[in-house]
Amino acid sequence: MESILFFFAAFVRTTVILITASLVVRLLVHRWTLSEDKPSVPVSVNFHFTRKCNYECGFCFHTATDSYLAPLQDAKKALALLKEAGMKKINFAGGEPFLYQSIWPDLQLESVSIVSNGSKIRSSFLRENAAWIDILAVSCDSFNEETNLKIGRGVGLSHVSQLKSIATACRDVGILFKINSVVCRYNVHEDLSIQIAPFRWKVFQVLAVEGENMDASPTGTDGDEPKPKLLRNVEPFLISSAEFDEFCQRHKHVPSIVPEPNHLMKASYLLMDEHLRFLPRGSNNNTPTGSILEVGVKEALLHAGWDEQSFRERGGVYEWTKPLDSGCAAKGASELEW
Ligand code: SF4
Repeated sequence: MESILFFFAAFVRTTVILITASLVVRLLVHRWTLSEDKPSVPVSVNFHFTRKCNYECGFCFHTATDSYLAPLQDAKKALALLKEAGMKKINFAGGEPFLYQSIWPDLQLESVSIVSNGSKIRSSFLRENAAWIDILAVSCDSFNEETNLKIGRGVGLSHVSQLKSIATACRDVGILFKINSVVCRYNVHEDLSIQIAPFRWKVFQVLAVEGENMDASPTGTDGDEPKPKLLRNVEPFLISSAEFDEFCQRHKHVPSIVPEPNHLMKASYLLMDEHLRFLPRGSNNNTPTGSILEVGVKEALLHAGWDEQSFRERGGVYEWTKPLDSGCAAKGASELEW
């Protein structure tokens, strides 16, 4: 009897030790997974390669404070480094990317997208380049041209008709068409139920970014230095979170709607600027990192202010590759040179 009890006790002891050890290992693995030291993978990068724009949206948060454009060879190197580090999707943004139609590469990524105000896009460009563009996003905040003019989105009364032409051209050549709308004081009460069916309709709450469209300490000086005058003032455009929620509720029947309130936008986008630096946005520190050509992707990511978890929580990874057989110029049909 005693030996049975002895073996039973030994069995229980061993089982407890094994279970405890397994729990400790799982806890350590979990902590490592969440650890800040674990290198992030720059899965999706927004490359704001220019700040120049032909529009003057009053809430713009990437303003023309700098006319720099990185040499093409440097931009190519930076994109190659990002791809090596795990980039699967690139979004070319600005400013207005279509002021520079000739610089875009064929990167052979899962997804290439461009976000534009639409004014410079020509259907011939879409036909000739459809092979490597998965998604084209055009910004439009209202179907009422007067509202677009008040916002600064456009210079005449043609923004909406241009948007419709681009949507048709995208459909014809098999590019996924997306609309980005910023909800602000001027359109918050509008019914924007989409008259065009995009595959994705991103709806952003207008965002204040210190040093771009919001002056945190409007004293006119920055220490002893006179402060540079900001090109935009977002204040008259701001809306509350409740107003934004109300707008989204009103449009929740639109199947493609993807709402992004301020708290989801902050830190969930990985932005690279015209100097090939990551640009923290919406955090307390908006200081750019070093150029990734100089400090490397891994080091720059540590200071990029990018929250990979928020990126995933806001649905940053989605079905972003266009179907292989889409349109007359399906992906891979031709290869572009730099
Ligand atoms: S179109 Fe975009 S980049 Fe140009 S001013 Fe408007 S928000 Fe800024």
